[in-house]
Amino acid sequence: MIPAPFDYMAPASLEEAIRALASHGEEAKLLAGGHSLLPLMKLRLAEPKILVDISRIPGLRGIKAEGDKIAIGALTTHYQIESSELIREKCPLLAQTASAIGDVQVRNRGTIGGSLAHGDPAADLPAAILALGGEVHARGTAGERWIKAEDFFLGLMDTALEPTEILTEIRVPILSGRYGTAYLKAPQKASGFAIVGVAAWLKIASKGVCEEIGIGVTGLDVKPYRAKGVEERLRGKKLTPTIMEQAASQVAQGVDALEDIHASAEFRSHLARVYTARAIQEAAKRTEK
Ligand SMILES: Cc1cc2nc3c(=O)[nH]c(=O)nc-3n(C[C@H](O)[C@H](O)[C@H](O)COP(=O)(O)OP(=O)(O)OC[C@H]3O[C@@H](n4cnc5c(N)ncnc54)[C@H](O)[C@@H]3O)c2cc1C
Repeated sequence: MIPAPFDYMAPASLEEAIRALASHGEEAKLLAGGHSLLPLMKLRLAEPKILVDISRIPGLRGIKAEGDKIAIGALTTHYQIESSELIREKCPLLAQTASAIGDVQVRNRGTIGGSLAHGDPAADLPAAILALGGEVHARGTAGERWIKAEDFFLGLMDTALEPTEILTEIRVPILSGRYGTAYLKAPQKASGFAIVGVAAWLKIASKGVCEEIGIGVTGLDVKPYRAKGVEERLRGKKLTPTIMEQAASQVAQGVDALEDIHASAEFRSHLARVYTARAIQEAAKRTEK
């Protein structure tokens, strides 16, 4: 449980951090909240030669409204998201999801940027960011760019970030109209990570018809994904319990479900169907308030 020796630096600016990544190459690792990287280092599953601590770089933390979006700095902690009045009021799915992460200590240290960049297939926030059609901003030696959540998660612990890129901000839409949201997960008992987690938001038009819907799934596949097949079956339909269950039954179709000591592939797929149905039903119920 003792990490291999490493050097440490705490750059004062984003530019300095990007330069450090460029000059140290694969030997360098960014450190944000440390709640994914440090456990890996202690298990010697990661042995970076130098840690580039970005946690004190100004301007990377905070939550604000920007037009019809909410902008969240990469260093914003899970607790800050969970307790933000702006997020609770304008995009509650994100607060619901952040509040389901680990325990209080983890939520106080872990950051949204670290969670997304780490690409853990069982992390909670990716499901919500996907469901909401969010996007992330990255800066690196080649400049800056926006990446859609759908294009961000590439595989097991693999994202679209280049080795010299730093995730700086996340944007999600401000939800309006008659909408409901829900994040439900079957957690691992020890860590709280999702065996399966489903984030859902939907908007109801007149006469109870589903006008818009987003569903993100984590834990089932090697990467989190947006359940477009399920969404398509519900968009434009009047949401009845039967229709919601029938649509949810498609969630694991075409997915090569993960299998580990916590759950077989078959059980995970079953959980995904049940939790998708429940998350959609819960979101639909919340539109009635
Ligand atoms: C006991 C325990 C329980 C947990 N339970 C859960 C849970 O239930 N659900 C859940 O989702 N998570 C859980 N986590 C993980 C937690 O949410 C982490 O904090 C989070 O996944 C990573 O955020 P971090 O800021 O700690 O990142 P770090 O550990 O500092 O970094 C993680 C990785 O991302 C990279 N990185 C960090 N920030 C950036 C950035 N801005 N740009 C580019 N790369 C970056 C780092 O180089 C590193 O490779 C748990 C962790 C622990 C220790």
